[in-house]
Amino acid sequence: MAWALSCQTKMKQLSIRAQLTLLYSISVLATLTVLFASFYLVTKSYLFTETDRALTFHASQIAKDISLNTDNVFDSQTREILDVSSNYTPGLFLTATDTGGHNIYKEEVSSEIQDLANKALKANTPAFSYSTIGETKLRLVAFPITNNGAIGTVVMGHPIDVYEKALNQLKKIALVILLFLIAPSIVFGYLLSGNAVSSIKSLSQEMSKISSENLSKRVEIPSKSSEMFDLVSKFNKLLDRINEAFSREKQFIGEVAHEVKTPLAVIKSNAEITLLKDRAPSEYKKSLTQILEHVQKLTKQLNSLLDFAWSQTLDSNRQFVSVDLSKLLLTICEDTKQLAAPKNILVQSNVQKDLTVKGKEDKLAQVFFNFVDNAVKYTPIGGKIFISAIKADSEVIVDLKDTGVGIPKNEVKNIFTRFYRTDNSATLGHGLGLAIAHSIVTAHNGRIEVKSTPNKGSLFRVVLPI
Ligand code: ADP
Repeated sequence: MAWALSCQTKMKQLSIRAQLTLLYSISVLATLTVLFASFYLVTKSYLFTETDRALTFHASQIAKDISLNTDNVFDSQTREILDVSSNYTPGLFLTATDTGGHNIYKEEVSSEIQDLANKALKANTPAFSYSTIGETKLRLVAFPITNNGAIGTVVMGHPIDVYEKALNQLKKIALVILLFLIAPSIVFGYLLSGNAVSSIKSLSQEMSKISSENLSKRVEIPSKSSEMFDLVSKFNKLLDRINEAFSREKQFIGEVAHEVKTPLAVIKSNAEITLLKDRAPSEYKKSLTQILEHVQKLTKQLNSLLDFAWSQTLDSNRQFVSVDLSKLLLTICEDTKQLAAPKNILVQSNVQKDLTVKGKEDKLAQVFFNFVDNAVKYTPIGGKIFISAIKADSEVIVDLKDTGVGIPKNEVKNIFTRFYRTDNSATLGHGLGLAIAHSIVTAHNGRIEVKSTPNKGSLFRVVLPI
């Protein structure tokens, strides 16, 4: 078992082509060995069965002759019959025994013949054995002679040395053929396996042509019956995903550059215009104040961008712990009251106790803060914000409702796209808050639902699994 395992491990270290060649050669040689062995065994068994059949036939004829002519095998008739039969079937050993197994030709008494004759007499059927008489190896049969009961046996032998010699020769020839076939079977196996792995080679060449420069290129899919079909289809799908991610990143970098370029250009031109000539201290102050405002906006925007980048890398379930959502939402309510105070917005809440979810507390806090920040931003003075949280089955449902400007119906589907801002909010934000919230909620295996009516208000529902 251990040996087989180590062979398997060693095989796996070889190239696919070498493995195929080895397997092919082994299977060809094993098949030929089985074929030769079967041929040898069938031939051997056929030769001996035929010999036994012929011996039995002749011995039975002689036994019949003897029984018709005498009831005493020591009579001269028996010897005469044996002599005549010997002339008809030259080269065969022929004798007869009495009921005690004694050979009628005294000079050739052999215990082996006696035992064989006794066996045949006892069973009253022909008995077979091998024996060497003189220099010759024989296949012997003892056939009972019956004449009103057993009177002896006819013992007949056929030389088998010649068979054995022929069979040994056959064995040697088979071995030589096998040895001669080793090299051709390896060469043939090598050529065949080359054909089999050529598709893998051409596939790897095609794959190596794909780089970040031509990510839209695809490997040609082979026919469905080919083992490569699955591999190539999956590889192409992987390329689709990588290409998509690449384009997204490219687009993101472009968008970031665009978002940052504008405020920087404003700051630059403001400073350049101010420096064109000497100005009164109040003008410098005004210009610096404007620059500071832009820098603050830019800082906020860069922070949001960093948050967004972080939210994209949030690995779900990895660093997640149990978060007391009720406590977190009560803190958010307090923050909202402070944010809403300058606009005289009424903040109300109804948060169920002991709500817990699995997640990252700071990221979840960011999600709810982004929602309430928007609610305050997009709700006119004197409006209302309502925060509620309840448990339903295996989920927690958090509703954040406001009586703000609302979102036009056709724009709702876009508000989670980064940098997207609706027309009625163009100057208030930079379009990242909801994109961040969405990717954090998704990483928590949750979902966000939106209902909004322009000029009436919006409802953002966050559903998180417990
Ligand atoms: P921003 O920084 O512009 O608020 P967000 O991603 O948070 O970016 O929101 C995207 C857009 O969705 C906003 O520009 C705004 O038009 C709309 N929006 C988000 N929340 C509300 C809300 N509570 N009421 C009305 N419009 C909203």
